[in-house]
Amino acid sequence: MILKDFFIALSQNQFLNSAAKKYGLKMGAQSVVAGTNIEEAIHSIKELNAHGISCTVDNLGEFVFKKEEATAAKEQILKVVEAIHENKVDAHISLKPTQLGLDIDYDFCKGNVREIVDRANQYNMFVNIDMEDYKHLQPSFDLLDDLSAEYDNVGTVIQAYFHQALEYLQKYQNFRIRLVKGAYKEPADIAYQDKKDIDENYIKLIEWHLLNGKFTSIATHDHRVINHVKAFVKKHNIPNDKFEFQMLYGFRRDLQLKLASEGYNFCTYVPFGSDWYGYFMRRLAERPQNLNLVMKQVFNK
Ligand code: FAD
Repeated sequence: MILKDFFIALSQNQFLNSAAKKYGLKMGAQSVVAGTNIEEAIHSIKELNAHGISCTVDNLGEFVFKKEEATAAKEQILKVVEAIHENKVDAHISLKPTQLGLDIDYDFCKGNVREIVDRANQYNMFVNIDMEDYKHLQPSFDLLDDLSAEYDNVGTVIQAYFHQALEYLQKYQNFRIRLVKGAYKEPADIAYQDKKDIDENYIKLIEWHLLNGKFTSIATHDHRVINHVKAFVKKHNIPNDKFEFQMLYGFRRDLQLKLASEGYNFCTYVPFGSDWYGYFMRRLAERPQNLNLVMKQVFNK
């Protein structure tokens, strides 16, 4: 737990975040980040598509407090939308509201996200609003409420560590929803702290949404959860087109390929860009074994 808190604290350090941007992918981040530019990301997507794996693309970025930076992020994501379309790859967009100005002004952020959703909609492309920490939860749901009044190519994420996760899920059951355990540090009055409680709630949400929801993205590297889902869908005759598994780029590649080859819909989350630091530190917080990636890089040099 101490190590987890340590890496989450590092992920939120704005000085280190800005410093890391200048130095390209370091410390093993290149194993889990698909390059620093769109061309490299498209190359990785093509490779995954060749194995029957679709992708959700995240132009990495957080801690945006200046309008120019949020506008630049929007322009970059619009380029990603165009690149996905032009290259005819099987991919859609994942975005973080704080990168698009949520900490600056809600309406400004909504305008940015709306432009992306509108452009993606022209190409029949889905846009996922990723969920960040609790402070941004309600405004992110507000974005979904506002944009879904106009567009149907938008959905979001529900984090199982929240006590109220099932209520959120019930409210958004008619959306394409990604279910995750949750990656941020949240206080005990709103979120489960114990891994066992989070895992139990996660399974509860997955089962509920598979039975009642529109489309479920089960985003986990946990083989126990994946095996449970396989048995559950079989028992309840839930067809493969009602759900998919998702994992992050660079993690459990063998299992990703295996699930795709077994005929399950599989989607890899493909992060790219120079703003990799916070994303990478959260991965270390989730699984300190990922430090192996860092060590290998350091000692291979
Ligand atoms: P864990 O609970 O970390 O691991 C469970 C078990 O699985 C481990 O004990 C181990 O046995 C096995 N395992 C896990 N990883 C590995 C590995 N690399 N190799 C071998 N065995 C392993 N969080 C958010 O808060 N918001 C988001 O929008 C969001 N989007 C996400 C999108 C995707 C596609 C994914 C995969 C995750 C996302 N997350 C997000 C992160 C998520 O909330 C978890 O923090 C993260 O996935 C770690 O939990 P886990 O379910 O993968 O398994």
